[in-house]
Order: sequence, then C-alpha cells, then structure tokens
Amino acid sequence: MRAVVFASGGVEVAEVAEPKVLEPTDAVVEVSLSAICGSDLHLLDGKTPGMREGGVIGHEFVGHVVAAGAHAGAHPEGTRVVGSFLIVCGACVPCRERRFNHCTERRALGLGTLTGDLDGAQAERVRVPVADVNLTALTDAFAEILDEQAIFCGDVLATGIYAAHLAEGGPGDTVVVIGAGPVGLLCAASVRALGARAIVLDADPHRVEFARERMDLEALDVSEADAGEAIAEATGGAMAAATIEAVGHVSAFRSAMRTTANGGRVVIVGVYGSERYELPMGMAWIRGLDLRFSGMANVQAHWIEALTQVASGAIEPDATITHRMPLDEAVEGYRLFAAREAMKVILTPS
Ligand SMILES: [Zn+2]
Ligand SMILES: [Zn+2]
Repeated sequence: MRAVVFASGGVEVAEVAEPKVLEPTDAVVEVSLSAICGSDLHLLDGKTPGMREGGVIGHEFVGHVVAAGAHAGAHPEGTRVVGSFLIVCGACVPCRERRFNHCTERRALGLGTLTGDLDGAQAERVRVPVADVNLTALTDAFAEILDEQAIFCGDVLATGIYAAHLAEGGPGDTVVVIGAGPVGLLCAASVRALGARAIVLDADPHRVEFARERMDLEALDVSEADAGEAIAEATGGAMAAATIEAVGHVSAFRSAMRTTANGGRVVIVGVYGSERYELPMGMAWIRGLDLRFSGMANVQAHWIEALTQVASGAIEPDATITHRMPLDEAVEGYRLFAAREAMKVILTPS
C-alpha cells in the first residue's frame, strides 16, 4: 500500500507492507482521511527525535475497521471510527483514572521509536493497538459528523477541549490563547464553547486574519505590540483568568505569564523538547501563577465531548482546513504546511 514515510530527514510517499492484526486487541482501519500535524514537522526539525528511516508518519485519521482481532470487539468490521494519536493500554492505574496521557504503556501513532515505533496513518491502512480504547465509533449521535470534522476529534480538537478544561475559563472570564495555528484556534473555539471570552494572539498578521475571518474569533496582532499590554487594553486592565500557550516556544511562555492575571492559570500546551528557561521564582510566587503543563493531550477523556460539540454545531473544526490533497501529493502538502502557507492539510488515499 501507499504511505508517507520518513526518509533522509524528510518525507516521501512509498510502497510499504500491509498492516496486519498482530495482537488480539488490534484493529486495522482503512483510512478515508488523514491530516498533517505540527507534531509531524517536529519529526523533521528534530524536536521529536527517534523516527525510524522508512517508518510511516501520521496520527490524525478517520476511516472504517477492516480487520479486528478476537479481543477488539467494541468496533467490529465495518464500523466508522476516528483514531486517537495517543495509544494507551486502557488497563493501568492512570488509564482507569481516565488520565490516559499518563498511561504506563503510553505510545503514539507514527511519532517514532520513543513512543512505541508504531506505523502511522498517512497511509491507505493503519494498525491500531488496543482498538477498543484507541478508536471511537462515529455512530448514533455522531453518524452525521463529516470525516473532515471527525478527524479533529482524535487530536487537535480533543487537545483544545482538554486545554480549555485546564484553563477553567467560565462565563465572565477572559482566556487568552497564544498562537493561531490549528491547535491554538481550536483551543480558542473550545474556550468559547465552554462559556468564556477567548482572545487569540499571534505575531503573524495572516494568521490573525484567518482567526477572525474563518473562525469568527476575537484575535489580536502582536507583531508590533507587547502581548501583556495588548491584553491589558482588551480587558480594561483585568488581564486573563488563564492563558493557553499553544506555540511551544519560551518567548510564548513568557508572553503567557504576562497576559495572565495574578493568581491565574498558565496552561502550556505547546510542545517542548530540550529547551531551558530560568524562571524568576519570586515573580511567579508573589503573583501566585498557576503553571499547568498539559503533557500529551488526554484524548480518550475528551473526544466524546469534542464530537458532541461538533455534532451540536458549536465548534466547526473543519474551518481550519485550507488544503485537500491526494496522499500521493503529501510531499507538497508538507512543504506548504512547513512554509505556513497551509493552515491544515488533509490527505485522501486514492
Ligand atoms: Zn496531531
Ligand atoms: Zn494505561
């Protein structure tokens, strides 16, 4: 079958072996749509090391179960499903407490040897371990959800809902989101769906425009302005009850501390690797800043809520999609995405 593979530090579309049911809890899913994610770029830029040469990339997908192991009964063959990027065991103590992102056997699809070396979903078919837990069915109340909407519920929108809960914004609160990429936009949409005022900040005027025009979000261009001053002005000096940092850069983290009110929450969703930062302890202490590092998104605890928000029309995640391409043109999709010419790229196997 055709798949996007890691090759010489980049990507190429190649012929690879068919995935098979290897464990009785596995399922194989025929992929109807996959997507390119910022996390995929981190494999290429070295932030996420350990991708194997020839390994299949991709962790955002929707499709149909075409083979199920003897103990993968929750989603029989033919079931339309969305998959989680986060692959968990479902049985350990953190999983039983629904803290799936702290599963003691945590893995991820298509993200390299440090997360289980599982082949990913930018392919015609993908093997999903512990399928009962790591797939969710698009049936009943979710049957009307389009593939282009459902695909977000296994990663980006589940992340947004998870982050919005960590931010604990409610009616009357302002929650700032730093970064108007797909994750930031869906964090802001989730914050708004939970009842708070969401303000998106980005230093790229095109992304600010996108947030306003395509997502109908309140967004401020901070390419010239200081983030703290911009939020002081927007909130009449009250500042944000919480800030979600959706960039994964120390400068964005510092901005997040400046936009947050004393006693407020700083939620760090952006991905970090080997970066270091010297925290002014006295400042953080006297201001009572509540720093909340998200870790990997707790997808399985939030994807039903994500699907419910989509089914109700409260969140339209597919508004982030700018490019739809055949899987065979994935190399061009990666180029557009890395160059920030694309907001979200969707790939269709032929
Ligand atoms: Zn992703
Ligand atoms: Zn577990």
